[in-house]
Amino acid sequence: MKITVSEIEAPLSLPVSEPVGEDSGLIPLTPATGRIDITRTGPEVHITGHVEVTIRQVCSRCLDDFSQTVHSEFDLLYLPAEALRGETSHELHRDEGTVGFYRNDQIDISDILREQILLNTPMKPLCSENCSGICPTCGKNLNEDSCNCMPQTIDSRFQILKTLRKEH
Ligand SMILES: [Zn+2]
Ligand SMILES: [Zn+2]
Repeated sequence: MKITVSEIEAPLSLPVSEPVGEDSGLIPLTPATGRIDITRTGPEVHITGHVEVTIRQVCSRCLDDFSQTVHSEFDLLYLPAEALRGETSHELHRDEGTVGFYRNDQIDISDILREQILLNTPMKPLCSENCSGICPTCGKNLNEDSCNCMPQTIDSRFQILKTLRKEH
């Protein structure tokens, strides 16, 4: 979905429902849905809104698949790329990352949504805060079953005991 900046006459409030392509590196299970509000002041375009999408993730601890809903709320200012010339970034009075630039009078809303979703997708997802992970010795998923392997912390304590005994 693209918008033409010069055609924004009055504030817009748009429902969004955009498919998220797998080229984003995500495996979306739903389209990205939400709402965006767009207001224009001269060449400046203020975009606020929220979006959410459910994606398939792989738990970084137990390596199981699970689905996760990613929410994003955003408040962005878009300026024409031409405004970059002769202007230093601190004159923009905004944090980096909340200022974007558009070219040729066009803003691609789909790009913004994809970027916002990626920003809010955890790099190390967990299927649950309490995920027990997999046993480093036998590889069993400890969320499903326990195993009889010795926890490594105890192992190392035994090692210390052995070392101490040798010294005496
Ligand atoms: Zn897990
Ligand atoms: Zn084990």
